Amino acid sequence: METSHILNFIRTTFMDADGFIPLHAPFFGGREKEYVTDTIDSTFVSSVGAYVTRFEEMMAEITGARYAIATVNGTTALHLALVITGVKYGDEVITQPLTFVATANAISHAGGIPVFVDVDRDTMGLSPAALQAFLEEHAVVTGNGQCMNKTTGRRIAACIPMHAFGFPVRIKEIAAICAKYHITLIEDAAESLGSYVDGVHTGVFGNVGIFSFNGNKTVTCGGGGAIVTNDEALAKKAKHLSTTAKVAHPYEFVHDDVAYNYRMPNLNAALACAQLEQLKDMLANKRELAALYADFFKGSAVKFVTEMPGTTANYWLNTVLFADRDQQQAFLTESNNSKVMTRPIWRLMNKLPMYAGCQHGDLSNAEWLEERVVNIPSSVRKML
Ligand SMILES: *Cc1c(COP(=O)(O)O)cnc(C)c1O
Repeated sequence: METSHILNFIRTTFMDADGFIPLHAPFFGGREKEYVTDTIDSTFVSSVGAYVTRFEEMMAEITGARYAIATVNGTTALHLALVITGVKYGDEVITQPLTFVATANAISHAGGIPVFVDVDRDTMGLSPAALQAFLEEHAVVTGNGQCMNKTTGRRIAACIPMHAFGFPVRIKEIAAICAKYHITLIEDAAESLGSYVDGVHTGVFGNVGIFSFNGNKTVTCGGGGAIVTNDEALAKKAKHLSTTAKVAHPYEFVHDDVAYNYRMPNLNAALACAQLEQLKDMLANKRELAALYADFFKGSAVKFVTEMPGTTANYWLNTVLFADRDQQQAFLTESNNSKVMTRPIWRLMNKLPMYAGCQHGDLSNAEWLEERVVNIPSSVRKML
């Protein structure tokens, strides 16, 4: 398929004949200004305020998790998730090489060492088969219930699969493997707000899940994140450590742990609440766009990625696969030169200088995808 044909279709679909078409622009169509103004009028713009609590209640309701804890961004939510689940300095954390760098960075912030295991080609996320094979080769569960890496001598403390572009990974299979090997499961659901597996929201299959509300995500509040969990003790720990571990008292400053200033400000939470009120409409709008793309690419050599059976994807970033790297690169060049924003998938984590020394298994699926994937414009389109 000719690149110009694809670009014409994108321009027609976004009703913009010659302007810049972003990959994913925020959509503000509800009560955003009203709520944000309310925080300013009340002076409660910072770490105390009703919108933060409301945001947490909305996130618990949307995901079906018993608890949700607001944070300043997705990266800190991931860091905190690792801390509250007991990941310690020198522990290993398994994740996929195809992810946004924040996943690996958060592991490092917690003192952990990332280990990269391959993805599946169809989900683009962590492969249960590759995980099983890696653990069979390297892992042993000790008498006291710890999973140790025989090759490195370190503890394998946790596993972080990521739902790439909102397409759910085989999370149930991954959860079963983690349970068998006594490995904590943390879902990086930063990109998958509104994505489900068998009707259950992503982020609640493991011990902890995290979300991001960065400017380019489906729902944004400028910057923001959330931790979700069904475990009351973990939820309490997350809230406590995200608010400098301050002991409740009418006026005294007493803190009982080395903690963080990770709580989402009320100003951002106001924006988040207004955005979440429109989540259903935004998801429907994005599904409609994905259906138009699916129809357009039907039968073409450029493959449009669709949700797997039994799953619902949020179609955060629409994704196509080119036949090879040359075609991928040619399309990236021509589209971006034509002011239609497109992006390749991330450079594999194990190829970045700071993670080049990390242990990894065979990564041939991740390498295959790295040479083929391109994200195409995916913004919510203005309602007519
Ligand atoms: C966006 C994102 C994050 C981090 O979120 P921030 O809010 O930008 O800190 C983490 N993991 C993945 C996979 C992401 O896409």
